[in-house]
Amino acid sequence: DRPTENHVFEADVSRLLHMMVHSVYSDKDVFLRELISNAADACEKLRFEAIAAPNLLGSDADNRITLTLDEENLRLVVDDNGIGMNREELIEALGTIARSGTRAFMERIEANKAGEGAQLIGQFGVGFYSCFMVADRVDVVSRRAGSEEAWLWSSDGQGAYTVSPVDLTDAPARGTRITLNLMEDAKTYASRWSVERIVKEQSGHVPVPISIIEKPGAEPVPLTDGTALWTRAKNEVSKEDHADFYRSLSGQYDEPAVTVHFRAEGRHEYTTLAYIPGAQPFDMFDPDRKGCMKLYVKRIFITDEADVLPRYLRFVRGLVDTADLPLNVSREMIQESPILSAIRKGVTSRIITAIEKLAESDAEAFAKVWENFGAVLKEGIYEDGERRTQLLSLARFKTTAAGEGSRSLKQYVEDAKPEQSAIYYLTGNSVEQLKASPQLEGFRARGIEVLLLTDQIDSFWVMTAGEFEGKAFKSITQGAADLAQFAKPEGEAEADSAPSADVATFIAYAKEKLAGEVSDVRASDRLTESAVCLVASEGGYDRQMEKILQGAGR
Ligand code: ADP
Ligand code: MG
Repeated sequence: DRPTENHVFEADVSRLLHMMVHSVYSDKDVFLRELISNAADACEKLRFEAIAAPNLLGSDADNRITLTLDEENLRLVVDDNGIGMNREELIEALGTIARSGTRAFMERIEANKAGEGAQLIGQFGVGFYSCFMVADRVDVVSRRAGSEEAWLWSSDGQGAYTVSPVDLTDAPARGTRITLNLMEDAKTYASRWSVERIVKEQSGHVPVPISIIEKPGAEPVPLTDGTALWTRAKNEVSKEDHADFYRSLSGQYDEPAVTVHFRAEGRHEYTTLAYIPGAQPFDMFDPDRKGCMKLYVKRIFITDEADVLPRYLRFVRGLVDTADLPLNVSREMIQESPILSAIRKGVTSRIITAIEKLAESDAEAFAKVWENFGAVLKEGIYEDGERRTQLLSLARFKTTAAGEGSRSLKQYVEDAKPEQSAIYYLTGNSVEQLKASPQLEGFRARGIEVLLLTDQIDSFWVMTAGEFEGKAFKSITQGAADLAQFAKPEGEAEADSAPSADVATFIAYAKEKLAGEVSDVRASDRLTESAVCLVASEGGYDRQMEKILQGAGR
């Protein structure tokens, strides 16, 4: 027999726990959502492993989550018959934090003590530890499916935990039992009324049925039936159902801005349920951010790492469930599968169409979506040649003519001068800075609209996008602007075709002084108030791109 082992938490875990224990979040309810979501994940993992090893299920093939309350002893027990954890997994999963988001999470919480903390827990994947917001001791008994051992992990959340073997008779036949010894001020989590309310509110659509046992010895009463929301007919799913399901998928607390739910029939059969979030997730530009689409085969969760969507739709949360992929396909094979690429194409189209529809039907809601995710969608203009025109049509821009609002390229082209063959743009770090740029003077004076581009990706797509409705994209910092072809603004004297002798002398002087620093000095139509400005040379990179490349150390 093995003795009880004492362990200390990794430093980051300790810090995190300290924060949880001393948290002043009003919204502690989230811990239950986190435990239920882990229990459901464990059930999904078991179903996946059982494809290759059906005997893991034994005689108990139905997954379930059970909540047992004990008001008298201030206890809440969360049971699942999922995959379970062996000793190493317990230590690894509940004693260390391998995830990259943790540090970011703590920094953000420390910066913002009062507000969003509790809401961020799920998003950052530190869910389990949130139970120390309400419990002063947590016991986790787990038995991995197929194993002849069971283990108890136990901690008061104060920096250390123990791991000890448990008699099989004291352990669940398979899966994990988490017992929370509630703090006095958290006793509400042992009351049926609150627990029922919280489960329905937060976890109503978890795809594993949840039942409740009101007190030890009582019969389990079903709370949710665990039917997969996406398998229901579209018109049977309410807005509230979607909001609830979206929240449990994303760990966010906002409402979806766009919901895409459809069943594809024909060459490939699959169901998609996808949401565009109402708010930005914290890690949208994190290069390590995982895909947020889950892949199911016949309702069995396979992976959330397949590229179900292109990268420029990485803010979309949801899932695809298909019967067309074989269940026993490896995760690596899936990635290569032509069926997956057909699905990716289909789902991508549907999502973009849904955004287009929103743009037509509700400009305000669309503006919000664009504000949140436009910078990511624009990566698609760069990467996805096939949908370039579609994405360009969706794009909205700050321009010299847009005032506080923004404009589409269609509007730009409609209002362009008859002789104008280009769409002019200026890239930089902020709209304010761009608006003050001397480069704009000549264009402004002639009433020619200029796009003011401030996202990093803008410097890239303008190079590959080519044109929109026959007009090429052209940086106004690049070479001699085409201003000569446009009528001069009224009241301004017609400039001589050649610079005067004084100007020529100055140019010669400047060229000599700046030799080696600039490649040319010339008179220009583009300035009306400022005396000089820097421009980039015609075939080279534009000024902002030069800065980006310098920043990247090239
Ligand atoms: P996340 O769910 O984002 O991975 P958590 O802190 O919620 O982060 O959980 C940490 C890990 O602990 C999980 O990834 C899983 O490996 C393990 N775990 C937690 N609860 C269970 C459970 N009920 N059954 C099996 N494994 C679990
Ligand atoms: Mg979790």
